[in-house]
Amino acid sequence: MRISDLFKQKKAVYSFEIFPPKVGDDIGKIYSTLDEIGDIAPDYVSVTYSAGGSKNSRTAEIADLLKNKYGMEPLAHLTCINSSKEEVAAAIERLNKIGVENILALRGDRIEGEEKGDFCYASDLIPFIKERSGADIGAACYPEGHPESANLVEDIRHLKNKVDLGATHLNTQLFFDNDIFLNYMEKVRLAGIEVPVQAGIMPLVKKSQFGGIVRMTGAGIPTKISRMYARFADDPRSLEDAGVAYATDQIIDLLSAGVQGIHLYIMNNARVARRITENIRPILDRINGENK
Ligand code: FAD
Repeated sequence: MRISDLFKQKKAVYSFEIFPPKVGDDIGKIYSTLDEIGDIAPDYVSVTYSAGGSKNSRTAEIADLLKNKYGMEPLAHLTCINSSKEEVAAAIERLNKIGVENILALRGDRIEGEEKGDFCYASDLIPFIKERSGADIGAACYPEGHPESANLVEDIRHLKNKVDLGATHLNTQLFFDNDIFLNYMEKVRLAGIEVPVQAGIMPLVKKSQFGGIVRMTGAGIPTKISRMYARFADDPRSLEDAGVAYATDQIIDLLSAGVQGIHLYIMNNARVARRITENIRPILDRINGENK
């Protein structure tokens, strides 16, 4: 199913993001994650592509498993800046063969010496996909501004361009302060961007997340989270409990504010995904009219 159709059916779409196993790693590792995610039944599952600049192209393989073995809708990420036109065209062709109906068009992070020069921005990739695929195209957006952009106004102007070129839905970068997202949404709508936007939520449940991925995104860390880390960094079970509680609270507040969707960065941690889903499912289902 196309994600644009999901947004027509649901008041609040609920999805997960996973990453493929590294090239050379046993693909079997992902099966237990997919089994568990299948039970939780998110509306769709997005699969990252070459995240962190690795030449990881198992995205199509995992999208194929999701769609054709597990019956879940995949959103295949695709980056372009470090690839040639031929490589990107081949990746799109592979997704077409699998029957993927949703692609997230991304620039990818700049890696010195890796840029091929065929694509500069995600806005170059969107028409390239449209020429080769009938899939729905999503794009990324940044409530705290993309780290390279001079200011939010300029960043939103570039975002509008992606939508005008054909992006039909947007997924946000992770954030921990809902007011930042809600203020951003006001600006996005004022700029005339009308497509659905899903809020990206990452549960902070492991010590390693604080230094790595979160710092990379440049997301602001509220005092509540700093306190959580200071108290529980060396107590893994309490850190997970606290992280699940924080993400749950953040999601319920966003649903209260009428957000159109939640995209949970689950980092392949199905247990955490299940815990958060159990907390929010009754409200989510009532919002969507499935459990009055
Ligand atoms: P763009 O939309 O191209 O924007 C990049 C920067 O260029 C911004 O500062 C923008 O304001 C500016 N800009 C855009 N157009 C122009 C223009 N015409 N002129 C001047 N400046 C311009 N990375 C991965 O490697 N793999 C993944 O799977 C992945 N998944 C992601 C999923 C989500 C939801 C998000 C939010 C990010 C993801 N990323 C992933 C990270 C992403 O690749 C980086 O954030 C990257 O630096 C920017 O990608 P973009 O598509 O947002 O770029």
